[in-house]
Amino acid sequence: MAEKQEQPQASQNGEKAENAENAENAENAEEAEKPQELEELPPFEIVTGERLPAFFFKFQFKNVEYSSGRNKTFLCYIIEIQGKESKTLRGYLEDEHAAAHAEDAFFNTILPTCESGLRYNVTWYVSSSPCVGCAEQITKALKKNKNLKLSIVVGRLFMWEEPDIQAALKKLKAAGCKMRIMKPQDFEYVWKNFVEQEEGEEPKAFTPWEDIQENFLYYEEKLAEVLH
Ligand SMILES: [Zn+2]
Repeated sequence: MAEKQEQPQASQNGEKAENAENAENAENAEEAEKPQELEELPPFEIVTGERLPAFFFKFQFKNVEYSSGRNKTFLCYIIEIQGKESKTLRGYLEDEHAAAHAEDAFFNTILPTCESGLRYNVTWYVSSSPCVGCAEQITKALKKNKNLKLSIVVGRLFMWEEPDIQAALKKLKAAGCKMRIMKPQDFEYVWKNFVEQEEGEEPKAFTPWEDIQENFLYYEEKLAEVLH
């Protein structure tokens, strides 16, 4: 499992480090303002919101092969609920791999129940593919809720060389979960729809990083091998 690694290499880059720190301080400040009874809750470091800071997107979603320092999972979700009235919900979750995982938290906090009579089409854009525990939780949720369809689009594959991870991903597929690797266009989609943009300014264009296409092809091939 994701050993806790060093914080983003932010420290190598003064400005980015500051941004990351500010973002964390802002989170802490918000925490401090919450009612005190929250202090008794176990550490459940899940952050939810509508749009994530650009710094986190650029760092956490990068589809590099070596994911050092990327010890969180960022999960952007779109839930389309079809019934008499259809509606769409969207937002994001992030976790600290030491505590609860974003995938698990999604089913606990965002979509704890699926009402029968409604259809749920859920799409996740996740920075990396699920660990064994989360894959099992997702598989359970899909088996329990036949009216739930889930597509997972992942930036990177998490420990895909491990046989237990491969087995968990295969089970996920067998349970009906669609999984694919984020293409450059998917990163752009997340950038436009889930990343904070400067207020009152035109959204900044997405700037792909070097190797974005090569890395996508690399992971796509690995995923095909795992799921064959
Ligand atoms: Zn997990």
